[in-house]
Amino acid sequence: MSTFQELGLNDDLLHAITDLGFEKPSEVQEKAIPILLESETDLVALAQTGTGKTAAFGFPMLEKIDVDSRTTQGLILSPTRELCLQITNEMKQYGKYCKGLNVVAIYGGSSITDQAREVKRGAQIIVATPGRMKDMISRRLVDISKIQYSVLDEADEMLNMGFKEDITDILSHTPDDKNTWLFSATMPREVATIAKKFMHDPQEITVGNKNESTSQVSHEYYLVNARDRYQALKRLSDANPDIFSVVFCRTKRDTQKVAEQLIEDGYSAGALHGDLSQNQRDLVMTSFRKKQIQTLVATDVAARGIDVDDITHVINYQLPDEIETYTHRSGRTGRAGKTGVSMVIVSKSEVRKIKSIERIIKKQFEKKDIPDGADICEVQLMSLANKIHNTEVNHEIDKHLSNINELFVDTDKDELIKKFFSVEFTRFYNYYQKSKNLNVSESSSDREGGRDFSRGGKNSTRYFINVGGKDGFDWMKLKDFLKEQLNLGRDDVFKVETKDSFSFFNTENELKEKVLAHFTDFKHEGRFVNVEVSENRGGGGRRDRRGGGRRDGKSGGRRSDRKGGSGNRSDRRRSEGKSSSSRRSENKSSDFGASRPRRSRR
Ligand code: ADP
Ligand code: MG
Repeated sequence: MSTFQELGLNDDLLHAITDLGFEKPSEVQEKAIPILLESETDLVALAQTGTGKTAAFGFPMLEKIDVDSRTTQGLILSPTRELCLQITNEMKQYGKYCKGLNVVAIYGGSSITDQAREVKRGAQIIVATPGRMKDMISRRLVDISKIQYSVLDEADEMLNMGFKEDITDILSHTPDDKNTWLFSATMPREVATIAKKFMHDPQEITVGNKNESTSQVSHEYYLVNARDRYQALKRLSDANPDIFSVVFCRTKRDTQKVAEQLIEDGYSAGALHGDLSQNQRDLVMTSFRKKQIQTLVATDVAARGIDVDDITHVINYQLPDEIETYTHRSGRTGRAGKTGVSMVIVSKSEVRKIKSIERIIKKQFEKKDIPDGADICEVQLMSLANKIHNTEVNHEIDKHLSNINELFVDTDKDELIKKFFSVEFTRFYNYYQKSKNLNVSESSSDREGGRDFSRGGKNSTRYFINVGGKDGFDWMKLKDFLKEQLNLGRDDVFKVETKDSFSFFNTENELKEKVLAHFTDFKHEGRFVNVEVSENRGGGGRRDRRGGGRRDGKSGGRRSDRKGGSGNRSDRRRSEGKSSSSRRSENKSSDFGASRPRRSRR
């Protein structure tokens, strides 16, 4: 692994790189930068979103252009306004020590005269969306006849969005001897055609496998009745208290409807689709970036621009019409070295599509069950407990302590804890108490549907363990870790489910003593790892509890844990009102039948 210095970048860029805190080049940067610096060549680079492509073409372009000249020398085409602004911003940061540099963004929905004025002042680099660019060329507001470097960023997305003709038109106004650098996550036929048509002998680099979906993303699907989609969505959100997600719908109408319904049900959600004004879209995106919105409901087209790094989950509320689009959706998570989960809610008639997607992304889906009420209550309760545990004490309370103590003088600790938790928890618990099982089995002969539901009945034990995603575990890593620790075989640990700061898993009952003994006073990487039998699922499999019999006496969790905040989400605030959508849903379909109690608003 080389350093940025070794790649041959100049001091101005290295200085900016230090400021940005980039320690070492990403793989695509390591491969692309030396090629682009050393030779005048065309290039096709295939790399997933979040791999650092902007810098891979941005650094060489900045190094190669002449900042003393005011001629436009570099043109970067990108599919959306969001991306266009983002690239412009990144380029400005990368080039902040390149004196005289002027990078200008050209995109629709904003004053064309202002943009033309900026270009006229002398822009060495233009970052543009194809539509507006074409417009400006035909009005002779830009001159790209002396371009030396052109970049087609997210080429597959641009073609998907129907920009092929615009791109062809734009490139026809550029010199033949320029270099073209094409960056794309996938290599569909159209991209290959473009490459062939506009490029001469391009060098090729690939990061990961072609068309492969991001390795940091795991893929899950949930089989439900179509009418239960919305309920399933809510449960998936509730089962992941720290979720920061994009929910994809197929149409603008569904997008708006789902967002409105979520807002009405007390979630911090917002809608992003083409029927909103630019201003509304900007507001939603700003709130989402600031994590004031926890769930962004979006159409494929509108979501193209979303480059937010820490999205934890992508939820496919409906599968896309074109299954290739799935790659783009799931690529919204697992960015910048983080792990992510892409979930698909499917009905029986669509389940075949999962196989086709697996072929495209070259990865397997895991079939999972929509958590039931007891699962969710347990997760929420433990999440709340963890947050309380990690909360810093506010000593303003000290002066009131004697009064409070007086009130609780006859309450013992256990009782106090129960009361304390019940404040936030009871409504949540009540809502889920009568919740039904939403899962559908794949074939009627195979009632248990999923992988290991034959297991996990009365013969298995469910455990709680106090490590999770925050500690770098996804379910596969945790399963490996447990197998290794306990020296167990491939299938001895099952139903592993990781949450942010804790997880669950099952073993057969025979292993219970071994598991508990092993994790007594056990330390991993300097911290105590604690394993307990999870009471909610004493018997094991969820399906055993279909009737909901075990929920007596159990308390549950409430979404309120978001308020206190822990870790990097501490800045999250309630912001239902900030969403683009109006509060009321006028058009309730059967999808959106039963709602759950409101979260307490403050
Ligand atoms: P892509 O275009 O491949 O989707 P981006 O260029 O938008 O990816 O980069 C994703 C994120 O990673 C950005 O926030 C960017 O600032 C950051 N990044 C890029 N290169 C590096 C690096 N070498 N080290 C650390 N972070 C990086
Ligand atoms: Mg990019």
